Order: sequence, then C-alpha cells, then structure tokens
Amino acid sequence: MGTLLFTGARQIVTCETADDRSVRSGEALAVREGTIVAVGPEHDLAARFPDAERVPCDGSVLTPGFVDSHTHAVFGRWRADEYALRCRGVPYMEIARQGGGILASVRDLRGRSEDELVELTRPRLGEMLRQGTTTAEVKSGYGLRTEDELKMLRVVRRLAEEGPMDLVPTFLGAHEVPPEYRENRAAYVDLVCQEMIPAVAEAGLAVFCDVFLEPGVFSAEEARRILETGRAHGLLPKLHADELEGSGGAELAVELDAVSADHLGQVSEAGVRALAGSRTVATLLPATLFFLGRKEYAPARRLWDTGATVALATDFNPGSAPSPSMPLVLTLACSQMGLDPLEALVAATAGGARALCLTDGRGTLRVGAPADLVLWEVEDYREIPYRFGTNRVRAVWKRGVRVV
Ligand SMILES: [Zn+2]
Repeated sequence: MGTLLFTGARQIVTCETADDRSVRSGEALAVREGTIVAVGPEHDLAARFPDAERVPCDGSVLTPGFVDSHTHAVFGRWRADEYALRCRGVPYMEIARQGGGILASVRDLRGRSEDELVELTRPRLGEMLRQGTTTAEVKSGYGLRTEDELKMLRVVRRLAEEGPMDLVPTFLGAHEVPPEYRENRAAYVDLVCQEMIPAVAEAGLAVFCDVFLEPGVFSAEEARRILETGRAHGLLPKLHADELEGSGGAELAVELDAVSADHLGQVSEAGVRALAGSRTVATLLPATLFFLGRKEYAPARRLWDTGATVALATDFNPGSAPSPSMPLVLTLACSQMGLDPLEALVAATAGGARALCLTDGRGTLRVGAPADLVLWEVEDYREIPYRFGTNRVRAVWKRGVRVV
C-alpha cells in the first residue's frame, strides 16, 4: 500500500481541540500504511509526496471516524412491539410485567446461538459504519448467565476479528437482575463477582467492567463491589450513572476512578463538580432520553464549562435507543444540550477515544493516528448536526482502506 494524499477538501477537521485550530482550509492529509503521516498546506504535501495516489475530496469535509463509546449492539430481536405500547402511554413497569423490557432481550438472547448473534449483529455494525462510526464499544448484559455473557463477548470478539470496525468489549453482567435471582439478588452479585468476572478475565474477553447503577436495578454498594472485583481481575471500571433518577452515580464513579460515568441525565451539582475535578469521562447519551420522551437532558454545557471531559455516544440498544446514528446524537447534543457543533464533534470522536482509553490518536486527525476518516457531503462541518435526518456520509476509510 503506497501513500494516499487526500486533496481538495473544503475543510479538514482534526478534532485535536474544540476551537478554530482544528478546522483547516486549503490543507491536505497524507496516509501511509494505515496511519496519518502529515496534515498541512496542500502545495507543501503535494511537493513532499509527489508519488502519492490522490484521493480527491471535491470540496467536501474530512473528519475522524466517530468513536461510539457506549453501545449494546449485540442483541436478538428488535422490540418495536413494546415501543408501540410506550407511545400509547403504557408505563414501563406494566410493559415489564407483560414480559417486556431488558428481560425480554435476555430471554430472546439466551435462546440464540453464537453464530446466529454474529449474523444479527454484523449488519448493525455495517449501518454504524455507513453513518461514520469506525470504532465502537460493545457491552454484554443480555445473557445474565455465565455461559450467555461469555457467548455475547465471543460474538464481539468474532466481529472485531472480521473487521473493519474496531470493537472494544465491556462486560456488563450487572445490567439487570435475572428472573431466577429476583428473590435472591445477593446470590446474583456473588455469581457476577465469583464466577462471571473471573471467567471473562481468564478468557481475555473484555477490557471494561460496567454496572447499571439506578434505583431498582443495582445499588451503589453492589456496584462498588462488582467494579472493585472487576478491577482486581484487570477489567477497568465504567458505570451507568444517574440516567433516570439521581443516585450519586457520578460521585461514585469518580470515587472509584472509573474510566467513564455514562448517561448523567439526572446528575447532581456535586456530581458535576466531582467529574470536573477528575479524569472520569462524562459520557452523554442524548438519543436515549430523546427516544424515551424525556424533556431533561444531561447538563452538557455545565460539564464542558467546568472542565469535565465529555464524550457523546449512541447507547445503541433495542429498548431505549434503537438508532446507531452518531450524526443524530450530534444534533441532539447541539439542539438540546447546548454544545456547539465543533464541541459535539470533538466529544463524539476524541472524547469517545478518551472514554475507551485509546491513546493512539484515535478520534483525531493528528500525525501518528490511525487513518480512520469520514468524508462528508457538506460544505461546512456544522452541516453535520444541522442537516439532521439525512445521511451526509460520502465515504469512510478504516486504517487507510476505503470501507464505505
Ligand atoms: Zn447502556
């Protein structure tokens, strides 16, 4: 593979910083062996790489691929039946009583083979890729039995090996208490800590360990025990925190030095301050609150202004966020949460990389970073969130190879 020289882009948005320095005009980008080797004035690069193969960008905009740092992309069937009930105002508890909710996905997933789940998940990743996502985190959490949690993580591993998208696996055995442990939750937490975490770590199937901390799901005490056990086995902590009710999730995430605190729809003021003074990334998932019909979003502006590192992700899952679209997340971040388009783009790329501990320059177009690139059919990067509901992606490259 020779050198590729991307020329004629109206803008190259490097996402290294959330200010004008990241928005380059009249510049080109050179790629060799899947890595960005130069970004600079077009005439300089043309002279430096005279034999490079030209990739004409025709006045479009070039950005890094999105790093979607929070998804539940491995699942069985969709749950549109349940959605229709919710739209008519049937409360979630009633839907759960009728067999819906997360546990519907659990029953469904347990009945499916690993091969079947690979086949179901592959096209979803293709859809993510076509909307500009080149790296994604994927969680387990619909198995809630050791064998089924391992099965989900093996599906992630197989699809990661297939490529082209990079997948980062997270163990989320504490997504919900399964029906067979409803009367004995302590025994389920024991199972997660004593059997699942060691098995996942032993098989090298996850990088992170996550817990759904929320009143009625897992408590702070249970989350602490699970995340500390995970860490002792080499799995870095993440936390679903303060999604629908504030419960001190952000504060706990910071106390445990979690890599990220995700959701934060109802984070407290103390939680915002704790995140601002920490290295825990605030991962915001506005598509979920939008889809659930909530009117209040996470305080993205406050988090950003107080100095927290903000990431944006889809939360792609069959219950509360069935969309794999990062451009839609950008629109929500700008229109509903007060970020400006450049801040939102940085949060969805470099921010996502921070939330996944990827330190190879991923999510930026700096020299040395993998050449994960998206070419947008727009004249200005601000059109990416602005022209919502259409897919403006013209082409995607993963490590310098065109994949869309
Ligand atoms: Zn989630």
